[in-house]
Amino acid sequence: PKKGIRKFPRSQQDKIDFSRLELEQYIESHIEEAIEKRWIKVYLQVNIRGLSRRVCGAEALSRWVDPKYGMIYPGDFIPVLEKSLKIHLLDFFVFEEVCRNIAKRRNRGEAVFPISLNFSRLDFDVERFLDKLDDLVALYKIPKSILHVEITESVVMHNEEYMKFAVRQLREQGYKVWMDDFGSGYSSLNLLKEFEFDTFKIDMRFLSDMGKKSLIIISSILYMAKEIGIHTVAEGVETEEQYQFLKAAGCERMQGYCFGRPEPIENWLAERIEENGVESGEDTFLYD
Ligand code: C2E
Ligand code: MG
Ligand code: MG
Ligand code: MG
Repeated sequence: PKKGIRKFPRSQQDKIDFSRLELEQYIESHIEEAIEKRWIKVYLQVNIRGLSRRVCGAEALSRWVDPKYGMIYPGDFIPVLEKSLKIHLLDFFVFEEVCRNIAKRRNRGEAVFPISLNFSRLDFDVERFLDKLDDLVALYKIPKSILHVEITESVVMHNEEYMKFAVRQLREQGYKVWMDDFGSGYSSLNLLKEFEFDTFKIDMRFLSDMGKKSLIIISSILYMAKEIGIHTVAEGVETEEQYQFLKAAGCERMQGYCFGRPEPIENWLAERIEENGVESGEDTFLYD
């Protein structure tokens, strides 16, 4: 070989991380088993009302508690499930778990609150996915208005016309549709104009530095959303300082470690409710 040219350049990219590959293969080949054996757990992270700090809902986040690998986080398994076109299996299971838990509580006459769920763009490619959600909602007799669907911005932009159709469809079926990670993609302003979202969930990267520019951006998003009539949630609120800023800027709802980390759904955020109280209102907190 010519001098100076190596067959395998020693860059980071060329190093193969075998343990990562192994985990990815494991995830891809065990998702069905993980669902069936309930290694997948649904966690809830509390949403609070900005003004009162009371509990007004929660986001469902999945965890894979594996007998071999221990706790696996979505950052590891979501991309693998998307790549292998199996993400809908997870999202459908999480949806059913949420419905089942809501129904269980309502049957006991206990209070429930709205829950938002994360959907992948790929879910909408699956035939009859939305119909199957409707079947579950009917089976468990859940008021649809308390189920909110979160769709990530970057993913929406993947095929705008197609997603517009999916969002409209979801809305027509009675679900509220939230734009997740708002501001993180390339065409946020276009989304504001073209899509019919109920809620913007503002991406946590603006909050994380609390720099002058970021604060101006957050304030502007909150202002625009309010004028247009879209609800707002800020995610990734970690400090009291961030909470106070958002409250003053008129952010309706917030979520983040400041108010609580994700917890198993079975507890139904009992401690958070004890700590902060609950918002009572028709669509924020329902008694059967
Ligand atoms: P996301 O929907 O934007 O959810 C927020 C993520 O930020 C969650 O990570 C949450 O645990 C984390 N988080 C919450 N509060 C704070 C905070 O104060 N500071 C910081 N630094 N982080 C905070 P998680 O649970 O690891 O989920 C990561 C992403 O994976 C989610 O981002 C969501 O897009 C996706 N995901 C989670 N569960 C599911 C699922 O069942 N289906 C689908 N399709 N996606 C899911
Ligand atoms: Mg989300
Ligand atoms: Mg988010
Ligand atoms: Mg996200």
